Amino acid sequence: EVNKETLGFQTEARQLLHLMIHSLYSNKEIFLRELISNASDAVDKLRFAALSDDSLLEGDGEYAVRVDVDQDAGTVTISDNGIGMNREEVIDHLGTIAKSGTAAFLEQLSGDQQKDSQLIGQFGVGFYSSFIVADRVEVHTRKAGTAANEGVLWESHGESEFTIEPKEKADRGTSITLFLRDDCKDFADDWRVRSVIKKYSDHISVPVLMKEAPVPAADEAEGEGKEASEPAQAQYKPVNEATALWTRSRSEISDEEYAAFYKHVSHDFEDPLSWSHNRVEGKLEYTSLLYIPARAPFDMWNRDANRGVKLYVQRTFIMDDAEQFLPMYLRFVKGVLDSNDLSLNVSREILQQDKTVDALRSALSKRVLDMLSKLSKNDAEKYAVFWKEFGQVLKEGPAEDTANKDKIAELLRFSSTHTDKEVQDQSLRDYIERMQEGQDKIFYVVAENFNTARRSPQLEVFRKRGIEVLLLSDRVDDWLMNHLQEFDGKQLQDVARGRLDLDDESEEEKQAREAAEKESEALVERLKAVLGDDVEEVRVTTRLTDSPACLVVGEMDMGAQMRRIMEAAGQ
Ligand code: ADP
Ligand code: MG
Repeated sequence: EVNKETLGFQTEARQLLHLMIHSLYSNKEIFLRELISNASDAVDKLRFAALSDDSLLEGDGEYAVRVDVDQDAGTVTISDNGIGMNREEVIDHLGTIAKSGTAAFLEQLSGDQQKDSQLIGQFGVGFYSSFIVADRVEVHTRKAGTAANEGVLWESHGESEFTIEPKEKADRGTSITLFLRDDCKDFADDWRVRSVIKKYSDHISVPVLMKEAPVPAADEAEGEGKEASEPAQAQYKPVNEATALWTRSRSEISDEEYAAFYKHVSHDFEDPLSWSHNRVEGKLEYTSLLYIPARAPFDMWNRDANRGVKLYVQRTFIMDDAEQFLPMYLRFVKGVLDSNDLSLNVSREILQQDKTVDALRSALSKRVLDMLSKLSKNDAEKYAVFWKEFGQVLKEGPAEDTANKDKIAELLRFSSTHTDKEVQDQSLRDYIERMQEGQDKIFYVVAENFNTARRSPQLEVFRKRGIEVLLLSDRVDDWLMNHLQEFDGKQLQDVARGRLDLDDESEEEKQAREAAEKESEALVERLKAVLGDDVEEVRVTTRLTDSPACLVVGEMDMGAQMRRIMEAAGQ
C-alpha cells in the first residue's frame, strides 16, 4: 500500500503506553469509560461547531455513541458521530502527549505497580488505556465537514509505532476497534460491556447505544412455528440514562453517579473528595457542579497548566478549561458551569471582558469556600487530606482575593508550638481560643523548614511564657502573612520583626531589662562599631533565654524568607 506510513510514537507517549499496560491491568474496564468519554467530548465539540455552521452535520443531527461487540472476532468497537479528526489531528492527538511537564512526570515512575497506577491516575489515562485490554487498535475517523475520501485509518499494537493511511469513510466521526488480548475477551461479551457502561456512563449526555440483545421466544411451547421466521433486524437502544447529570435534581443523584461524572469532567481516576451542586435562579441564572479532587494533579505548580470549569451555555457545551470562572488560588477545583446569562457564541476573548463573568466568578468562589468550610467542620479527616494536597495553593488566596480574605483565613491550617508537630492542622480560630489573657496578637515565625522554625531562638521567650507561636516554613508563607496581616481583629506579628511588645512585662521584668540594657551599653557600642553597616541597629533583648544573640528584621523590611527567595532568584 503506497499511502500507508509508519510513524513512531513520541518518547513520552511510548513510556506512557508501557506504563498504562503494566500498571492498570487490575483496572481494565476503565478503557470503556475513557473511550466513551472521548466520544462524548467529540459530540460536544461538534454540537458547538455546528452552532455557527450547520452544514457540518451533513444532515445528521442525531448524536449518538454506538458500542458493538463481536465475540467471534474478539473485538469491541466504539463509534461516534462527533467532530472526528483529520490526518494531522490523528497524528498529534494519538501519537504525542501535548501536556507540558510530561517528561518530568514520567521520571517519577518507580516500576511499583501500585504507586505508578496512582501517579497515572493523577495524569489522566485517556485513549491509551485501550492498550490495557487490546493488543491492536484501529481508529477510523473522518472530520466533520470534509469529504468521504478524506477519512483516515490509524493502527497500532501499542508498542513503539503506529501506521496511518487514507481510508474512505461515509459517515463523519470516529470508530475505534479494539482487538482484545486473550485474557480480556470478556469485553466482547454483550452483558459485560453493558454493565460497565451503566456503571461509568449513565450521566453522559449523549445516548450510548448497543444492539438489542436477541429476544428469546416469548413462549417456548408455542414457539415452534416461529423458528423459521426472519430474525428481527437488530435495533440499537440506549444503554445509559443520557441526561446531563447537573440538570437533574440533587436528591435523585447517588454518590456513585456524582463520582462517575467527576471522572468524566476531570479526567481523574480517583473519586473526588467533595462536591457542591447548585441551581441558582434570580439575577444570575446558572447551575454549577464543583468538585474538590482527592489528589493534586501532577502539574499544579505549572502556571500554564489547564485549569477551570467545563462551560455550558443553556445545556450546550461551549469549552473546556474556562479559567475565567475561578481565581488562580482555586485552580484545583474541577466541574461544570451551565449559565443562562452568557451568549451561545461566547469566546475566550469575550469572557475576558464580560461583566457577568465577574459575577459568576465571585459566586463560584463563594461556593467553593463554603464547601471547604463545611468540609472542615463536618469531616476533619477529609479536610486534612484537602489541606495536605492543596493547602499551599489556598495560601495564595488572601493576596489574590481580598474580598474573601476572612473566609479564606478561617480555612488556613498551620503548625504551631502548641503541638510542635510538622503537620499543619491548627486554625487561627484554635489559636485565638488558646491566647493568653491580655495577648492581642497572633505570633508567628517564618523559617526555611519546620525544624529551623521550631528551634528558632526567637521562640525562647514565648515558650517560657507559654505563648503560642505559629511555625511557618512553606515557600508561600511570607507572601501570605504580608497580605493577611490580621485575623478577627488580631494583628499577626512576626516574632523576628522589630520590637516585641509583650504587654505583660511586669515591673520587676522591666527593671531587670533596664538594668541589663545599662550593663550592656559598652558591649552594644562595640558590636555596633564592629558590625558597622552590616546592621541597622544593635539592641539588648529579653527575647532570648538560652541563645546569646539573634538577628531581627526591621518592621518594614522584607521577611527573611522572602529575602532568601529573592536571593535565590539572583536579586
Ligand atoms: P483527553 O481526552 O484528556 O484529551 P485522551 O488521551 O483521552 O486525552 O484523548 C486525546 C485526544 O484525542 C483528545 O483530546 C481528542 O483530541 C482526540 N480524540 C480522542 N478520541 C476522540 C474521538 N472519539 N473523536 C475525536 N477526537 C478524539
Ligand atoms: Mg479522554
